Amino acid sequence: MARTHIVILGPPGSGKGTQAARIARELGLAHLSTGDMLRDAVARKSDLGVEAETYMKRGLLVSDEIIFGLIGEALDASKDTGWIMDGFPRNLVQAEMLTKMLGERGEKIDSVLDIDVDSELIVRRLSKRRVCPACKAVYNLDSIKTKTAGVCDACGGPLVKRPDDEENTVRRRLAVYKEQTAPVIEFFRKRGGLVTVNGAGDIEEIFAEIRRVLK
Ligand SMILES: [Zn+2]
Repeated sequence: MARTHIVILGPPGSGKGTQAARIARELGLAHLSTGDMLRDAVARKSDLGVEAETYMKRGLLVSDEIIFGLIGEALDASKDTGWIMDGFPRNLVQAEMLTKMLGERGEKIDSVLDIDVDSELIVRRLSKRRVCPACKAVYNLDSIKTKTAGVCDACGGPLVKRPDDEENTVRRRLAVYKEQTAPVIEFFRKRGGLVTVNGAGDIEEIFAEIRRVLK
């Protein structure tokens, strides 16, 4: 499985980030998350990072030009290992641009994993999510319990529910995700290599299914 290229898609609350990190570890792939790339570039004050910060400070979405610049750097850095891309592409234009960019580099996406989870299940799951504002650890009242209720295992800080995880916000985020990602899924379905993974189970079950479909 050397130098394999995977894109993982899934709605907020599907556990996509967790799964991407595990797949990356298991297969020795670079974990390319556009969110992390942005934060890292801003922290390093690279040219793209400085430019990205001017958008973020104004509360604007960072332009595709900057994002693709960051992706280009990440692709260069992971040329020898392969990668799994998480949180991108978010819409059809980005999917087409990414495919074109890879084509120009003589590379391609081998598999697109679409984690499929029922919206009601996500609303229920996210209502149980708690995060530690101090160290960013993420827990769940049902599935990732802390030793002491309401207290972070890692740093001892108090846990909170993110405003993003309130039911109305979750439903709105899911609607936006569906509207923007449905054409992306259709694009990859036509192109080939799309595999749908049932995301209803727990972290272990979903991971086992991903391993099975990647084989
Ligand atoms: Zn903590």
